Amino acid sequence: MNKLCPYGSHRVIAPQGALPQAAQRIDNRIPMQANELLIQVETLNVDSASFTQIRQACGDDRDRMAAMILDIVNTRGKLQNPVTGSGGMLLGRVKDKGADHPGQVKPGDAVATLVSLSLTPLRLERIKAIHMDSDQVDVEGEAILFETGIFAVLPPDIPQKVALAALDVAGAPAQTHRLVKPGNSVLVLGASGKSGVLCCVQAKLDAGPEGRVIGLCYDETEAEELRQLQACDVILMGDARKPLDIYHQVLAANRREKVDLSISVVNIPDSEMSAILPVKQSGTVYFFSMATHFAKAALGAEGVASDARMLIGNGYTPGHGQFTLDLLRSHPGLMKLFASRYDRKD
Ligand code: NAP
Repeated sequence: MNKLCPYGSHRVIAPQGALPQAAQRIDNRIPMQANELLIQVETLNVDSASFTQIRQACGDDRDRMAAMILDIVNTRGKLQNPVTGSGGMLLGRVKDKGADHPGQVKPGDAVATLVSLSLTPLRLERIKAIHMDSDQVDVEGEAILFETGIFAVLPPDIPQKVALAALDVAGAPAQTHRLVKPGNSVLVLGASGKSGVLCCVQAKLDAGPEGRVIGLCYDETEAEELRQLQACDVILMGDARKPLDIYHQVLAANRREKVDLSISVVNIPDSEMSAILPVKQSGTVYFFSMATHFAKAALGAEGVASDARMLIGNGYTPGHGQFTLDLLRSHPGLMKLFASRYDRKD
């Protein structure tokens, strides 16, 4: 085995020299090392783009989905969807802590990882249940966190699966807070999804009464749930894969002007141009969606002479976990929506 590395490169099998996220295969078999944390895994929160791809590939058949998830983990040593490249995160209890691991936790503590499953060594004994509506999978298994692998100790005042769902996308509302200025116009694509509702609520808080938050939804039931939150000034219905339709709808909703910022939190490919086209030359496009394709965004923007700044949605922002849990706590409607969606027993 390679020398112990804070980033986990000692577990990389192939290609040698890569870090765990980019590796094709990592070693999930070796015992916990001195700089690692061993977690007894209870639930996987599969990244939405990945879960959607797995559902489609398996025709929504739970047995086939379970087999596909097990196959990915057995082949790669981690849950990294080979098509989307993304993972998700997990909920579990600390089983053991290496002598050199810096985490302030002890065995038995309930934690959620804040680094992607696409780089987390994972061994699954079995899949107990797949929850189609929440993208969560109950499992028996073990995972390893590296020295640099951040995690959150689960708070006692929020149901665990609600916290898990919110922490999965914690980077999105925290980045929204950094990006939105008072008076800004903001378009959120995928506005009624998990990160979408968080971004809309946060964007409205930051844009203030002079600002304009425009939410693009795809599903009428979810859109109604978003409407109840009163976070959006306008809610549009449309398909983010149809950029001209979205562009014209946004102009009509924003006094014939392009917006200052767009935030893409859809879970499907081919939506890059709907996020770029409605944004001002001086504006910003924030791609949080894991289904975003770099070449489509870069070449598409060039093709329409857009000079908007484009940001990759890094899942990490300092303090993002706490920020997002506090956002939930501060908004009873948001908490209720998350509980109804992600704390279900089915
Ligand atoms: P989510 O809850 O599934 O929300 C996605 C939303 O997009 C849903 O409301 C969905 O509507 C909508 N949508 C689907 N197809 C659409 C279309 N053609 N036009 C317009 N809207 C459409 O997903 P999430 O958990 O919030 O995640 C959002 C994105 O962030 C995903 O791509 C995920 O992979 C990514 N993500 C990124 C990071 C990161 O670190 N950057 C971390 C976590 C997640 P329906 O429900 O009607 O399909």
